Amino acid sequence: MTHWIENVAKRAIRYMDTIDERAVFPSDEALANLAQFEETFPEKSSIPEEVIALLDDYGADATVATTGSRYFGFVTGGILPASTGAMMLMSAWDQNGGSHIGSPINAKLEEIALSWLIDALGLDKSVAGGFVTGATMANFTALAAARHHLLARKGWDVEAQGLYGAPEIKVVVGEEVHVSVLQALMMLGFGKERIIRVPADAQGAMLAEHLPELDDLTLICIQAGNVNSGTFDPAEAICEKAHAARAWVHVDGAFGLWVMATKAYKHLAKGYELADSWATDGHKWLNVSYDNGIVFCRHTEAIQAAMTIRAPYLVTGDTREPSHYTPEQSRRARGIEIWAALKSLGREGLSDMISRDCELASYFADGLRQMGFEVLNDVVINQILLTFGDENMTHMTIDAIQREGTLWAGPSIWKGQVGMRISVSSWKTTQVDIDRCLVAIEETARTVRESMI
Ligand SMILES: *Cc1c(COP(=O)(O)O)cnc(C)c1O
Repeated sequence: MTHWIENVAKRAIRYMDTIDERAVFPSDEALANLAQFEETFPEKSSIPEEVIALLDDYGADATVATTGSRYFGFVTGGILPASTGAMMLMSAWDQNGGSHIGSPINAKLEEIALSWLIDALGLDKSVAGGFVTGATMANFTALAAARHHLLARKGWDVEAQGLYGAPEIKVVVGEEVHVSVLQALMMLGFGKERIIRVPADAQGAMLAEHLPELDDLTLICIQAGNVNSGTFDPAEAICEKAHAARAWVHVDGAFGLWVMATKAYKHLAKGYELADSWATDGHKWLNVSYDNGIVFCRHTEAIQAAMTIRAPYLVTGDTREPSHYTPEQSRRARGIEIWAALKSLGREGLSDMISRDCELASYFADGLRQMGFEVLNDVVINQILLTFGDENMTHMTIDAIQREGTLWAGPSIWKGQVGMRISVSSWKTTQVDIDRCLVAIEETARTVRESMI
């Protein structure tokens, strides 16, 4: 007799095998069918097979095809086969990744995955790290470590005393700082507006010569990969100045940090290895599932002091304790999936995946320019910003492209101008996909233009 889970696997296989044949965004019919889920809380129980059948029959078509090869919204990776496989197994295992005693397999693979990531990114071997939900929490964790480190130096125990009466930390960010860094600053009691913003160049990179005076109570947040243009802040110059003044440099590298793992593009991230802490996402460019963020910190004692809580029943041993590096206790066992992704890619595979997306973005941008469209940014990595004329025309064309279904990309505003933001982040995307997208964009834009006359 087949186990019912085999039927679930069959459903999953059908989904994976047909993902690139359907519209990237759900059809109106699929969205209307979500009404099938509307009912009052059932009095009676259902067997799992029935629950899963209902979920798949009406749910699958209402998913966004982010695991397909033509989704370019936000910065959204797909999911590597090894990651899907690990997730399937993990759903049977249901490990609590928060502690060593709760899941020795996760604790072991977290350690290994961390050391591989540190190696791949070219960070110092002694760097510590933890697995969190995403770059927002990675930023939060790193900035909490920075807060501890800078204040401890002045004899202030922030974990014990909070920020009431504490020496004031000067927080410096670039004009183009990502909102998640502001959110982390807000949650840590720094205030998202009590910060110094450094002007940026035309591509959004911080102008290092405009840094304010720095000292040993300064926290500078720089960015590897602007969410619109893909540009990098000049890390080398900033880190040199900052470290001469004993300031802390934090890197928001949610997606851009991954170029450090490439041969061809790592020069763009020169100097980023000099920072004190780093935040990145696995669910973006590493192409693992949601939710997967990673924090790295040069100062092990600082991240541990900021994150470790102790209780008699939380038994710890001599080994690395996963929860000593993150804000969470109970959580999913992210190390397992990240290990699986890294093991399947290897150093070359990781480098190739990131580089290929960058090359495809250049190819995409060249094709768009040849068709007469204006690309607003210098396409340095995987990000393209494209305009279709004035604001109204651009919005209408983006809407029409989303409805047409070959691809999905969303709007953004860059230097006051509305554009379509294309982010090539999936392991699955090929040149054939880009060619298909170019045709779809050209035809849709023409139809919209003609409908305006
Ligand atoms: C996506 C992103 C974030 C936030 O990451 P989450 O995983 O959504 O929390 C932060 N910074 C940058 C540059 C990003 O692209």
